[in-house]
Amino acid sequence: MTPPPTYYPKDNQKKHPWRLMAPQAGGGVVGIGIDIGGTNTKIVALNKTGKVLKEYRFKTLPALGYPNFLKRISQVVNLWKNILPGDNFAVGVGVAGDINSADGIIRFCPNLEKWSNIKLAADIRKKTRLKCFIENDANIAAWGAYVLYLKKKYKNGIAVTLGTGIGGGLIINGKIYNGSGGSAGELGHTNIYPGGRKCHCRMRGCLEAYTGSYAIINRAKEEIKNIPAFIKQYGLPKVKKIDTISLARAAAKGNPIALKIWRDTGTYLALALSDMVLVFNPEYIVFMGGVSNASKYFLPAIKTAFAGQKIKAPFKKVKLIVSKNPDLGCYGAAFYALEKNRQ
Ligand SMILES: [Zn+2]
Repeated sequence: MTPPPTYYPKDNQKKHPWRLMAPQAGGGVVGIGIDIGGTNTKIVALNKTGKVLKEYRFKTLPALGYPNFLKRISQVVNLWKNILPGDNFAVGVGVAGDINSADGIIRFCPNLEKWSNIKLAADIRKKTRLKCFIENDANIAAWGAYVLYLKKKYKNGIAVTLGTGIGGGLIINGKIYNGSGGSAGELGHTNIYPGGRKCHCRMRGCLEAYTGSYAIINRAKEEIKNIPAFIKQYGLPKVKKIDTISLARAAAKGNPIALKIWRDTGTYLALALSDMVLVFNPEYIVFMGGVSNASKYFLPAIKTAFAGQKIKAPFKKVKLIVSKNPDLGCYGAAFYALEKNRQ
């Protein structure tokens, strides 16, 4: 039997900056943003001024299968469509993996079991009778950060999501840049050391193989001599393994090995990002995702590497920004729906 959807009401509107945006008259347009993660799915409904109308999250439970997930997600969208004020709804979806946004297809998604070649946009359209647009989650988060924080000052930038994996999203001339087949911005798998460490993608020497959270933890394990003592001193209660949180806590207390791990992380990031700066000449690089909470310890190494570049102008121009908003995925998806619906 299919379990009912588990909803976790979460009204955190107060902490978000766009609550300050003044509602406008005649706001009949609603963007519903869905961020599909391997563990949790977050959904938010925004009106055209960016005001949060509804916000829920539930377990993705990919093992129950795609039809089950589609049913649960459609139930929420259809419910909101009926109860929210608005007459022009559109749905935006961000999902990790190889996405064909032009055709609305998930070609391959490593975190969602056996979900490949899924016509997600068409299926949501069929179930909800609403327009639906899908994009890679890093591109969507890049869009979320751009609309919320950067649009007023900038037009060109790079977003870097730092988590288990490393994602990249490009904003060029105020638009998401997809490339010719939707794969642009795959920063995590650009090579920084030929023949180097093995990556989750099975290549060697990718940026992610050095700076993904799993890679940071592996490097820490190689350098910390007494791991149980380290965990006892710096880990959160009940956590038995080294994680990026204990590494950040250790760095905050001046532990030299943790400081070195983070410094090296910055140096590795700078290897890939300096190439990106030279290729794209961006106005900003915005860091997001859980590991960016430790930015204090890895950003100085990036700044040092950038300062040492010989072609000075693009490195002087680029601003390094950190966003600690954990919900850029679903807000970005809702803003994306609003934007696409306007076109
Ligand atoms: Zn890789």
